[in-house]
Amino acid sequence: MLLEVEDLKVSYGDFEAVHGVSLGVEEGELVSVIGANGAGKTTVLRALMGLTMPKGGRISFMGRDVTRMEPHERARLGIRMVPERARVFPELTVRENLLMGAYGIPKDRGLKERLEWIYRLFPVLEEREGQLAVTLSGGEQQQLAIGRALVSDPKLLLVDEVSMGLMPKLVDQVFQVLRDLNISEGMTILLVEQNALASLGISHRGYILQTGRIEISGSSQELMADPRVREAYLGI
Ligand code: ATP
Repeated sequence: MLLEVEDLKVSYGDFEAVHGVSLGVEEGELVSVIGANGAGKTTVLRALMGLTMPKGGRISFMGRDVTRMEPHERARLGIRMVPERARVFPELTVRENLLMGAYGIPKDRGLKERLEWIYRLFPVLEEREGQLAVTLSGGEQQQLAIGRALVSDPKLLLVDEVSMGLMPKLVDQVFQVLRDLNISEGMTILLVEQNALASLGISHRGYILQTGRIEISGSSQELMADPRVREAYLGI
């Protein structure tokens, strides 16, 4: 396993939001964690990135225990997060936003080639290179946020609710980009999502998170065929 999470517990003061979550992601996989509002998706992701320290459990990445590691150390090991609602720097240009993703990475590590690679993946970012990020559409900002995470050549991409606030057409477009990234570039991706249909549609496997617990897990086909998932998450 590239990422292995065992019995993860996360609290905000006295309130335990995540009650012992275990999950794993193999190299080359695209895995979804599906949950409704408030299920704890963002909390799990922030704990994986080190932005929120867990109260209990263990997170290992490439065989190393990273449970107590600072976010920048995890980033250096190759974990990167695309935050909810893209969170690009609005008053910086597209190119400057991308360069922010390379912060702390030695310049000689092929930065120029990586920017070219990102521009090939997201041609619109090259077209808008000198434009302020605030002037991009929601879908373009999501692409920029993904591009910014990719500049450092991560080994694991954590993606928080990429579909939020996007029109259905843009949701399809952004999910297609993630799928291509996984299939063509071999990028390992962990998605957390409310949009079960779109995310299971591109994932190998998934976990259903309900009020801080994993209730169901399986291949995407198994989950899409599960009556509980169909009723509660697919509206069928
Ligand atoms: P959403 O889809 O609405 O973003 P989510 O599944 O990502 O939801 P979280 O944001 O992880 O859910 O929140 C899980 C629970 O923890 C919720 O009950 C939320 O109110 C609570 N929570 C989240 N952040 C904090 C915080 N900083 N302080 C206190 N409680 C919090």
